[in-house]
Amino acid sequence: MNAMTQAAFHRLSDPVPDSCHGGLDERVGWLRAIADRLESEAGPLAMLMAKEMGKPVTQGRSEAEKCAWVCRYYADHAVDFLADETIDTDRAESLVTRAPLGLVLAVMPWNFPLWQTFRFAAPALAAGNRILLKHASNVPGCAAAIDRLIADATGSDRLLAHVEVPGSQVKDLIADDRVAAVTFTGSTRAGRKLASACGEHLKKCVLELGGSDPYLVLEDADLDHAAATCAAARMINNGQSCIAAKRLLVAAPVHDEFVDRLRAELAAYEMADPLDPGTKLGPLAREDLRDALHDQVQRSLGDNTAKLIMGGEIPDREGAWYPATLVAGVRRGTPLFEEETFGPVAAVVRVNGATDGVELANATSFGLGAAVFSEDLDLARRTARQLKAGTVAINTQVVSDPRLPFGGTKDSGWGRELGRAGIHEFVNLKTLLRE
Ligand code: NDP
Repeated sequence: MNAMTQAAFHRLSDPVPDSCHGGLDERVGWLRAIADRLESEAGPLAMLMAKEMGKPVTQGRSEAEKCAWVCRYYADHAVDFLADETIDTDRAESLVTRAPLGLVLAVMPWNFPLWQTFRFAAPALAAGNRILLKHASNVPGCAAAIDRLIADATGSDRLLAHVEVPGSQVKDLIADDRVAAVTFTGSTRAGRKLASACGEHLKKCVLELGGSDPYLVLEDADLDHAAATCAAARMINNGQSCIAAKRLLVAAPVHDEFVDRLRAELAAYEMADPLDPGTKLGPLAREDLRDALHDQVQRSLGDNTAKLIMGGEIPDREGAWYPATLVAGVRRGTPLFEEETFGPVAAVVRVNGATDGVELANATSFGLGAAVFSEDLDLARRTARQLKAGTVAINTQVVSDPRLPFGGTKDSGWGRELGRAGIHEFVNLKTLLRE
């Protein structure tokens, strides 16, 4: 264990003085103070993200503001969500209470360095837990900024402490007796390893893993709206989002028209400096991730039916750049259909109506988000219920919203973040009985 990790455990394991113990009122006050800081520091935090992982600053500022929103949301609702429940039984008293679990290890990814952390941290702190943060190795500045911001806002450095260790050593943190539970956001590959370490040590974990979200565009969809929404949903964060629109399943009669409109939408995403406020597409987070994405495109084009409509070439400039790319003619078996793609690559699949669309949408190991576009709301609602995903959006894009539970099924993980469900993941649901 390195000196920084020892110091982090020491900070978090120290007996917390009474003044800092954090009754619920005090914890609510901390969340409001953290929200204020996030808003006042949104500009510098956005610059930091742009420099460390290429997120366009306009999106980085929105991310910091969304973190403030989730803190305020739990500040407003924690008292209700954590209240004791009286259950009507034949005993004199039957109560359900919610106690904190203690120290929760948070293993976080680089793609939304602030949001992924705060959407866990806000409810976890509200519930009275403390947090050991192991952030992705390519965003050390963001990890340090989160640590400092929470300490400055609350006046306590005993609520969250970050450590700098490689992913391969996370299992040692999980094994530590001081860690009560674990939350993880990242790839399915790393999630499997983390879950097996949690199984070995019998520690609860929440897993928010990858996705290959299908966006189903039916024959009667508003095509302009569908194309604009699919483009925005694919290109968010330079295409590096678990809930990006990765497979666009389009009804055959409107397929060609949709592809034309989508190409026009994607043309607006020109690669540019992420520090420029007008930029919509910056570089990817790392060159190895860009190379893996390009390899997925190349392997897909080796399939006889896949056709490159735009992009698909690594530009001759330094950095992890990749252009907005559109591939049509994708089908089952094509890498762009079968694998998660983490970058600005839209894959279009031709389908024969809603039934075929649902079958292809569900033909993936993932189950995070999905969307359906149709002017027939009854059909859209029926279709939405048939899609195997944690969130299904109708005529809009999948987003995470502090008020709504968020998470996946199948290889996209288990457990839920956000909403009422999110704050209940890291509490001991304790029953109190009196005869
Ligand atoms: P990883 O899943 O490897 O990284 C995410 C976090 O997990 C990081 O903190 C990382 O630490 C840590 N980690 C890595 N290996 C282990 C392990 N064995 N046990 C526990 N924790 C581990 O993602 P990558 O950065 O390598 O990205 C690869 C792919 O993962 C992407 O292309 C994308 O498909 C997917 N991904 C999905 C995300 C999502 O939001 N669902 C977010 C990020 C990636 P360290 O950085 O030190 O290795």
